[in-house]
Amino acid sequence: MGNKTHYTKAGWLIDGSGAPIQKRVLLTVTNGIIENISPYRKDTLPAPRLVTDLSRCTLLPPLVDCHVHLTLSGSTDRRVRELQMEGDYDICRHHIEDHLHYLFSHGVLAVRDGGDHFSHTLLYKTQSEQSGTGKDPVIIKTTGTALHKKNRYGTFLGKAVSGNEKLETAVKNILSSADHIKLIHSGINSLTEFGTETAAQFSLEELQHIITLAQSRGKKVMVHANGKVPVELALQAGCHSIEHGFFMGDENLRRMADTRTVWIPTAVTMKAALDNLEFAHGVGKADVIARTLDHQLQQLAKARQYGVRVATGTDSGCSGIIHGESAAEEIKLFLQAGYSLSEAIECATSQGAELLGIDQLSTIKKGMPAHFIVARATPAMVPRKLSYLEAVYLHGKPCDKSFFNKL
Ligand SMILES: [Zn+2]
Repeated sequence: MGNKTHYTKAGWLIDGSGAPIQKRVLLTVTNGIIENISPYRKDTLPAPRLVTDLSRCTLLPPLVDCHVHLTLSGSTDRRVRELQMEGDYDICRHHIEDHLHYLFSHGVLAVRDGGDHFSHTLLYKTQSEQSGTGKDPVIIKTTGTALHKKNRYGTFLGKAVSGNEKLETAVKNILSSADHIKLIHSGINSLTEFGTETAAQFSLEELQHIITLAQSRGKKVMVHANGKVPVELALQAGCHSIEHGFFMGDENLRRMADTRTVWIPTAVTMKAALDNLEFAHGVGKADVIARTLDHQLQQLAKARQYGVRVATGTDSGCSGIIHGESAAEEIKLFLQAGYSLSEAIECATSQGAELLGIDQLSTIKKGMPAHFIVARATPAMVPRKLSYLEAVYLHGKPCDKSFFNKL
């Protein structure tokens, strides 16, 4: 039994490290591991039967969406959303399966779930792992249920807590079964009054206590926070990621660069709100939402300038935000904010993989498993072509197309 070596010719390679796009490379893959990446020349190519020709394609690492809600579909219909929020597990399970297919067909192979009220996503993950058949090609990291303060925003994503003892019990409960803690630490953005900030939900001491508990179990804490004060408290307490961070301000951005805290700007939430305003029943003013989106892109441009670690997340499942497709939309918004394509792809791949602790989905380089997604496109077309992928390769082999076509 010899080693099985196969070669792949790629027109362009975006390796996920933020390095410049490479042209015309040959990937040497042995037993599913990348053995070499080198420029190719016609006269040095191996025998054609050993080579897969993707010379008209761009290869990039599988995408990671750092902020999703798997039980929700993104429908803007209030009744549909209520059914999804209140549905029992048997209904939700089918929604989750559909959403995983959407994600996979857009090359999103890992997600970090920000919770649902009944912890259905955690149950789904546990059951699919236990059944052994649940070889979902999308890796799920979930908080189960998020935590928020009584009488404050967050009911549909989590459980309300009040009092120190209850908080401690709830945190320990989540830590015993979930992958991370999600705290809802502020309100949501006002869509009617520009830049309105809401009060923090947790005190600095509470945040510090929760983060210490999580770290003692080797787990991270993601914090939903908008506005200067909530973000500052979360950073001071040592949280691992700031979710949304609208109107957090310049000082917090600089603090994030210093502390190496990851920011998930979820700019696509505002784009979706704007696109759907006329058709959905929600409240909002178009000019306020447009300015809020623009402001977030300005913050993103600063984050890039200051060297903040940024990863892409979409809040998919929330109103108007579709699983999978929104990952591509968020990448487009990063480009709009001034990121180069390879920088935006770094945020959408290796930065997210590191935050989620998924080593096998990082950059495309020597010694790594040959996991990559293929767009039949020039790099310039890649963001749009993520919705029409040519193939998804795992361990050097193309995945069964039936997983794409199931829907
Ligand atoms: Zn969320």
